[in-house]
Order: sequence, then structure tokens, then C-alpha cells
Amino acid sequence: MITSTAPQHVAPTPPQTFLVTGGAGFIGSHLTEVLLQHGQRVVVIDDLSTGLLENIAHLRQHPNFDFARASITNELVLDRLTSQADVVIHLAAAVGVKLIVERPVHTIETNIMGTEHVLKAALRYGAKVLIASTSEVYGKGTRIPFREDDDVVLGPTSRNRWGYAASKMLDEFLALAYYREQELPVVLFRLFNTVGPRQRGRYGMVIPRFVRQAVRGEPLTVFDDGQQSRCFLHVADAVQAIVGLAHHPAAIGQVFNVGSREETTILALAQRILDKVDAYHATHGQVHSSLPIAERIQFVPYAEAYQTPDFEDMRQRMPDLGKIQQLIGWQPRCTLETILDDVIAHITSHPQQG
Ligand code: UDP
Repeated sequence: MITSTAPQHVAPTPPQTFLVTGGAGFIGSHLTEVLLQHGQRVVVIDDLSTGLLENIAHLRQHPNFDFARASITNELVLDRLTSQADVVIHLAAAVGVKLIVERPVHTIETNIMGTEHVLKAALRYGAKVLIASTSEVYGKGTRIPFREDDDVVLGPTSRNRWGYAASKMLDEFLALAYYREQELPVVLFRLFNTVGPRQRGRYGMVIPRFVRQAVRGEPLTVFDDGQQSRCFLHVADAVQAIVGLAHHPAAIGQVFNVGSREETTILALAQRILDKVDAYHATHGQVHSSLPIAERIQFVPYAEAYQTPDFEDMRQRMPDLGKIQQLIGWQPRCTLETILDDVIAHITSHPQQG
């Protein structure tokens, strides 16, 4: 359900073969759709640990599409698929703050070993590699907006959350080392709070969680005081940025922020979602939540939300987008309003997806 208008970047001819790791996931499935629309051949590798077959079911009959259900730690499969690829877009990773806090070994191993396998395979066959990183690598930085060459400020190793940031930083270091030492063409992009249809709330992402809670008439769980802020990026915009970077030769060897500049506090987001879901229910002749207004938002301390006494969150996170804008002319097109409309439409039409 990509809602953005015409593509901002035109694919080169002849068509190329893309291997998309994590291609059955939320971002990967949207990316795969767009690459196929551009006439490219796409092979997806996904172990369906957090991705869903349902996300790519409509693509399975496409003549330019192939799917392998396997983990990226399966070196034999990864090697075979990479041997056919011109470009590898590596999205497979352990993501979602809830998952990361609950399963730190899995997170660190998946992210570091997975990327190592991908880079080694790409080097064997001379494929170009794009690696998804994350705004988490900026950690607790307070110089807003975050620029790609800013110093990073992580918390102590005793706190699981920073293991995710460090694992993605190590992915970046490793990829850049392959570029410098082995001349492997790599591009890194740091995604900031990407949301949209097919994102699942069960791993912690706030917008699908709030929408699902509002649709069910449950209280929205705002962590801490709700004054922490984020800028949310529509997945359709994220995909255009990734495709643009994949096709631009001068992106090689560099790191790019991919995000939005439209900021909201989490409390304001919760209130907006409640209003929008109420309006949706009203137009569909359904009843509003029976909860009194004051009980429709529930403030939850971090310690309770993440079941750990020492959880740390960022108060504010906003990207500087000058670098990507200058190189490929990309900037986000979708507003938070569009994002919320699309997520509400998806969740109300897929009530069983958690
Ligand atoms: N959050 C919240 N309630 C939830 C889930 C998340 O208040 O049910 C907050 C979370 O503490 C963070 C923000 O929403 O400040 C964004 O969380 P998310 O996990 O989506 O992404 P993050 O920015 O933490 O990577």
C-alpha cells in the first residue's frame, strides 16, 4: 500500500538483480514492490522471524521475484543468492526496542554476524551493498539535528538498549572498512523512526501500538511523561531514499540520514491518534471507546514498560537531511497526517496482525 506519488528517482537500464535481506519485513516488502515496479529483478531472503509471508504473498507470482526462506546466517544460501545479485540491500536485523531489550544476545549476534556474512558474500561476487543502520547510533546525543559526522554518545554496556546501537555502529565500521581496504562498494543509511502499513506493534514501535490500542478501545500506553519527541518517516519515503542511494555512484563509501523533520511529542501523538481513530469509528458507524477521557491515556514508567530498572530513552531525535538532499535531491513527501491515515487504514483492515 505505497501511497507516495511518482518515483523521485528513475532506475537505470538494463535491469539489475537485487537481493533484499529481510525482504518479507515491513520496509523490505515495500522496497521489493517498488524495485519490481521499476522493472528490476528481486530475490528476497527472510527467515520470517519478524517478517510475514503475507507481506510478499501478492508478489510471489511476479516473474521477476524469488523468495528464499532462510536466515542470513545460513552462509550457503546467502552465498548462492549473492552470486546472482548486482546489488544487495541488507535490511535483515533484530529491530524494535522491546525485542532488543528482551533478547540482547539474539540482537547483537543477528546484527553483527548477519552483516559480516553479507559483506563477505558481496566481496566474493563484487556486488554493491547497501546496509540499513539506525538513528539509534546517535544514542543520547543532544546536538539537534543529528548530522552523519557527529560524535555519538552511548550509555553503559550494562544497559541492553545500547547493545543494539553498538551492534549497528559495528556494522557501519565493518562496512566502511570493507570499502576502504577491499574497495567493496558500500552505502550506509540511518533510518529514523520509519513507520507505515505492515509495521507491527509487538516489537515496540509506538505508532502501530497506539493505533491498535485505540482501535480496540484500550488505553494508549504513553511511556514516561510523553514529552519525549520523535520525527516519523513514511515507509514510502524511506524506500525512495534507499532506491535513490542505490543508483547514485557518489553515495558509495558514505553514511546518510534518512528521516523526517516533522517533530511530535509522544503525548501529542497519542492524542492525535485518539482523535483520528474516533473520527474513523464515527464515519464507519462504530462506537467510540467506552473509557472516560481521562483514562484513555495511561502513563507508564519506563521501568514497568521495559521490565528493567535502568532503561534510558532519548528525549529528542531529529535528523539533519542536508547530505542526502544535496546528493540525490531526496526529501520526505508524506506528512505525519498521511502516515497516521495509512496506518489506521492498514490496521483496521488487518485486525489479526499484531
Ligand atoms: N513509546 C510509548 N509507548 C509505547 C511505545 C513506545 O510511549 O507503547 C515511546 C518510546 O518510549 C519512545 C517513542 O515512543 O520514546 C518511540 O518509540 P519506538 O519504540 O517507536 O521507537 P524509538 O524511537 O524508541 O526507537
